[in-house]
Amino acid sequence: MEINTPQQVKDAIAKIEENEHEAYIVGGCVRDRILGLDVHDWDITTSALPDEIMEIFADYKTAETGTEHGTVTVIIDSLPLEITTYRIDGRYLDNRHPEQVTFTSKIDDDLSRRDFTINALAYNVRVGIVDLFGGIDDINKRTIRCVGEPDDRFSEDALRIMRALRFASVLEFEIEPQTARSIHRNRDLLNNISVERFQKELNEILTGAAAERILNEYRDVIAVIIPEITPMFDFDQRTKYHNLDIWRHTAKSVGESKDELEVRLTMLFHDIGKPATFSVDGQGVGHFYGHGKESTVLTKRILKRLKYPTRTIEHVSKLVKFHDAAVHPNKKSVARWMNRLSEQGMRRLLSVKRADTIAHAPEFIGRLDEIDSIEKVVDAVIEDEDCFSLKHLAVDGNDLIEIGITKGTRIGNTLGNLLDAVINQECENEREALLTLAKKINKIRQ
Ligand code: ATP
Ligand code: MG
Repeated sequence: MEINTPQQVKDAIAKIEENEHEAYIVGGCVRDRILGLDVHDWDITTSALPDEIMEIFADYKTAETGTEHGTVTVIIDSLPLEITTYRIDGRYLDNRHPEQVTFTSKIDDDLSRRDFTINALAYNVRVGIVDLFGGIDDINKRTIRCVGEPDDRFSEDALRIMRALRFASVLEFEIEPQTARSIHRNRDLLNNISVERFQKELNEILTGAAAERILNEYRDVIAVIIPEITPMFDFDQRTKYHNLDIWRHTAKSVGESKDELEVRLTMLFHDIGKPATFSVDGQGVGHFYGHGKESTVLTKRILKRLKYPTRTIEHVSKLVKFHDAAVHPNKKSVARWMNRLSEQGMRRLLSVKRADTIAHAPEFIGRLDEIDSIEKVVDAVIEDEDCFSLKHLAVDGNDLIEIGITKGTRIGNTLGNLLDAVINQECENEREALLTLAKKINKIRQ
């Protein structure tokens, strides 16, 4: 098998070989190339020691990225290459960091320390593919399988649990049964990894193509770090609107939504407040009054704990809060929501509503038409340059000062009232009309 690599990679490998050392591309780049995907990082593994690499590439820009782990970054024609010495990881004390790493001159040792067979492949033009663990076969079978004993590998480094789920979701691979059982069995080890690393992998799981399947099959694993999701599992909603329990509905809505992180996080948490707000009426029908509010409280708490950026927390909790809001396909209703959410937020809310609808019982799929109509109104509001926020209003604070309104709070309130009047189509967005209304509101003689 031949793998196409950039010229810089070929040059780097040739240069290392000229110096009597071995070098291969390795890991994700080999896997992704075989799958026909774009490669974002070219990693090279070599028998040369970091000092030797620094010397071989003395004429190039280099950075000692992690010399203690054997990595030197060499930049060739503006392409950064991470060149790492073959190594054996020492004992893992805390399920995350090897106590020490040992350099080795055998590629077999280096490939053995890698997490999954599909990531334990190396390649160069001279030798071709080095595949000691059946990685090619697993790529063809679309399988994630640990190199070696899964229990050992997950206890060495619990992040591998999340990486397995991530590759399965992003690449739409199945996790091989023994590896899968080990993931379930060892899930509590996830408590040993940092929330930042958990969050990064979770984001990729959520935006992956097989997110629904992974969320359903590995819900117990995600629940180790987000236990608040557990009450949703198998929760019978007892309403005609739903044919799925809360968690399966949630997972489906994630998988069916636009693969934008904020939208997918919203879907993950939009109904998390349902179990706590559940009630059954006299006819035996389930209701979840006020669940949006409860979901919002939980969402904020969880996202904060998982150290999401403040902006993400704000956006997602707003979308969760309003996921069930009644928006109507007319300009008055749409402009009001666009004022609250901005155009981008409004479009995201419609993505959320679409995904939520698709995950309802099939007979309610007709609601999608209404969402499409609302989106057309959003387009019209933008195209007609309609006013939906203070910055579009034909007057500003200075205009109000000129007519004698000087107190800050009064200016703010009046501008808000004027905007409401314009959105409600009670007043034209036009200077004279707005100032007349402002005077009326503030009882200033005309
Ligand atoms: P991507 O870059 O698309 O996230 P990747 O497989 O390249 O995927 P990296 O984190 O860039 O992942 O790691 C490069 C390679 O290093 C992997 O392919 C794998 O061989 C090895 N590796 C990375 N993390 C681990 C780990 N936690 N345990 C064992 N091997 C790992
Ligand atoms: Mg990589």
